[in-house]
Amino acid sequence: MADIKETIDELVAANRILANEGVVDAFGHISARHPDRPDRFFLSCSRSPELVSADDIMEFTLEGEPVDAKGRRPYLERFIHGAVFESRPDVRSVVHCHSPTVIPFGVTGEKLRPIMHNGGCLGHDVPVWDVDDKFGSTNLLVINMEMGRDLAKTIGNNTVALMRGHGAAIAAPSVRRAVFIAIYLELNAELQMKAMQIKGAKPIKFLTDGEIEVTSKMILGNLGGSSDRAWEYWCRRAGV
Ligand code: MN
Repeated sequence: MADIKETIDELVAANRILANEGVVDAFGHISARHPDRPDRFFLSCSRSPELVSADDIMEFTLEGEPVDAKGRRPYLERFIHGAVFESRPDVRSVVHCHSPTVIPFGVTGEKLRPIMHNGGCLGHDVPVWDVDDKFGSTNLLVINMEMGRDLAKTIGNNTVALMRGHGAAIAAPSVRRAVFIAIYLELNAELQMKAMQIKGAKPIKFLTDGEIEVTSKMILGNLGGSSDRAWEYWCRRAGV
């Protein structure tokens, strides 16, 4: 039970941090896999992340069914989380956000690539999932398992997939790392866009494959506790 309370408290903090850092606004969400039951996950009810408290955290099956809703309304896009947890046993936290600077990379064919050291956590490939490919004219939301599974397939073994005209989905080994990746996803996109503006005809030197290998291992593996240091900093800034 202690583990469950810890997971929920960490998830609440993660909600506040992502809101405070501008990764999510009224929309977007973060989930955590249940510590004892890999076939369940925790996710807030349909509320803006900045307002989320422990009482808002609901438990779901991987199919996105609430275990005991207690009258609370779930997010429409909870299937993103269920489908990623279902397809990736290594994943313990999922973020879905509409991080603004990421959107242009999902609609132009311009690849989002690690451009600074902490952006190395984005990995070797950031694929783009286009809902229109399989589902035609929709409201662009992921509202059932079929759509969630299609998105999870695009994520594959990567850390991030962009969602065309919508946002991004992040698959991470912990809540803290999911927050780290979400924050640096936005910053990396911002810096890449700036570099593209000033480079003229010159090529950009992105992180090399070897550098991506080393940095992502460091960040995702929590080498040197730097992710705890970042977590403490973001908690303080968010007042949690
Ligand atoms: Mn969305």
